Amino acid sequence: MPVTGDMVRRWHADLAWLPADGVRSGVLIEAAGGRFVSARPDVRAADVPAGTERLTGLTLPGLANAHSHAFHRALRGAVQVGQGTFWTWRDRMYQVASQLEPDSYLALARAVYAEMALAGITCVGEFHYLHHATGGARYTDENQMGRALIEAAAQAGVRITLIDTCYLSGGLGNDGSPEPLAGPQLRFGDGDGDRWAQRVHALGADEHGMLAAHARLGVAIHSVRAVPPGQMHPVIACSHAFGAPLHAHLSEQTAENQACLAAHGVTPTGLLDRVGALGPRATVVHATHLTGGDIETLGGSRTVVCMCPTTEADLADGVGPARALASAGSPLSLGSDSHAVIDLLEEARRVELGERLVTGQRGNFGAAALARAASVDGHACLGWPEAGEIAPGALADLVTVALDTPRLAGITRPTALESVIFAATAADVRDVVVGGRDVVRDGRHLLVDDVPAALGHAIRPLLAS
Ligand SMILES: [Zn+2]
Repeated sequence: MPVTGDMVRRWHADLAWLPADGVRSGVLIEAAGGRFVSARPDVRAADVPAGTERLTGLTLPGLANAHSHAFHRALRGAVQVGQGTFWTWRDRMYQVASQLEPDSYLALARAVYAEMALAGITCVGEFHYLHHATGGARYTDENQMGRALIEAAAQAGVRITLIDTCYLSGGLGNDGSPEPLAGPQLRFGDGDGDRWAQRVHALGADEHGMLAAHARLGVAIHSVRAVPPGQMHPVIACSHAFGAPLHAHLSEQTAENQACLAAHGVTPTGLLDRVGALGPRATVVHATHLTGGDIETLGGSRTVVCMCPTTEADLADGVGPARALASAGSPLSLGSDSHAVIDLLEEARRVELGERLVTGQRGNFGAAALARAASVDGHACLGWPEAGEIAPGALADLVTVALDTPRLAGITRPTALESVIFAATAADVRDVVVGGRDVVRDGRHLLVDDVPAALGHAIRPLLAS
């Protein structure tokens, strides 16, 4: 995926946000071999070398979508009819899951990742648990579905962390015992933690966790509902063996907290802490319903919190304590999760806007802090700490947001980042570069010719039944 060899590219950005330096004018950006070599502000157009490409608008580092379930994209809109709850939404999601096979999942994920690229997302964390065939039967290659996702990312021109997810039980019973998987859930299960680990090792990651030049391994405990504590150790060991990020859904619903307390006498955070799953390499997703003690535990261990505000609003989950978590020490990242929309700028501003609605106070997170969550901190929690910054040595990913659209026209340089974070949408993304290679040019995906058609072709058969 990255441009190979020493191929040199230069861009001259009218405006660029350099995370360490703020918004600067006339930034001459140079890359070689897929990484940035230099980023120099205040260079006049007359002084740039021949062959330099101009970037009009505000240029950002690549954005990281830290939490995705690609197949949920098929549900967009269809689940907005009627009332329903998180749990009825989940039943509908299972119906879609039950129909996918490696070929159809490749087509769907390719289109979804192309939609992400159009939105400025250069790296996706795919929280993958749709492992097996109908009824839990094994494909000849037990990792065929995961490999389809890796291939989909390559075809869409984005990086992927395949967060291979351990999912063993269907929930916690009233007596605290795990309920067996049933129906569509049978496709998610490996039997136990050791067999999950055997399958993950067969993915063939190298000692650094790399699966391909554009793909690395991540691992996940789906949730305390889906993995009994006695089965969590193989997942944690796998994270250590490959230096792989370890993710888990956490306290999205109060029902999960109640079941965990009843079964184990601790909150889900307390349970993950007890088994040694928390720490700087760990990311908990949602973290919506927490106690004060949970916040201290997560922040104190430097566990990353991935917020998915559009999904959390869509599913009526609630608003997580983002400010308290960040103040306690947890870096924040962002995910589009169920893909109710795919727009990292929307996710970013909703962290602040949700906080305002809950606290009655403005100014909890500035635009730069939200942009960091969408870029450098998002990449770090997916195992790509060398991405998400426009700085020498970083992977050469660029996202240019047009400033001449109806939403942004009239903005001035001092507030360009604030305008983009609080008013731009994915539709304002004009150019995207991944590893020094153009993936989106002038709003058009260069690798997937017609992204809406690709989405339509992949989704319609899934909703027909
Ligand atoms: Zn999720």
